[in-house]
Amino acid sequence: MSDTVKRWRETRAAIARAARDVERDPDSVALIAVSKTMPAEAILPVLEAGQRIFGENYVQEAKAKWPALKERFPDAQLHMIGPLQSNKAKEAVELFDAIHSLDRESLAKELAREIARSGRAPTLYVQVNTGDEPQKGGVSPSAIDAFLESCRVHHGLVIEGLMCIPPAEDPPSPHFALLAKIAARHGLRGLSMGMSADYEAAIQLGATHVRVGSAIFGARG
Ligand SMILES: *Cc1c(COP(=O)(O)O)cnc(C)c1O
Repeated sequence: MSDTVKRWRETRAAIARAARDVERDPDSVALIAVSKTMPAEAILPVLEAGQRIFGENYVQEAKAKWPALKERFPDAQLHMIGPLQSNKAKEAVELFDAIHSLDRESLAKELAREIARSGRAPTLYVQVNTGDEPQKGGVSPSAIDAFLESCRVHHGLVIEGLMCIPPAEDPPSPHFALLAKIAARHGLRGLSMGMSADYEAAIQLGATHVRVGSAIFGARG
């Protein structure tokens, strides 16, 4: 067994343990294997082992790698987790099964237009900038209620849940708790939170999707 597959198995086991610790069904936590910057040869063994949900950050990279992989594994699902430029909305709707980085009006408008035009409807998550970091994407917690309302009323978008990336220097749990609180207030089911360093804490606070890259694929070059 390759090191990557070994780490994937260990990650799955750790997810199941973290879920059971808080009396959650392990199947209620989906693992998104974040394969950004990894070549197809590194992704294949994980697909062969049974992983089906993958995260990518860049539209161009995903477009180059995934059509061939999807031909071999048609049930693989691709999630866009990186910042998305509005002018890439068309390609993103064509390529991805879910988008986790919806965070502004212009993008909501472009996504709504492409969804209507193409008939494809990726599952949508709104990214929340829980730490209000100026350099980071995401809607400020102070603006999230109005943005969700606008997605629904003005753009006719169905929002599945919320996503966050806590500030690197903060303990992550308060950010996960804040995201869960906002989601509950809006009746949103999906919580995309937790990465290699903190997915267990995220699961304790209700994550439905954890995005794990380096713990599976090793450090990115
Ligand atoms: C790269 C990335 C991840 C995975 O990070 P790791 O620390 O390698 O697990 C998760 N979420 C987002 C948004 C990312 O950009």
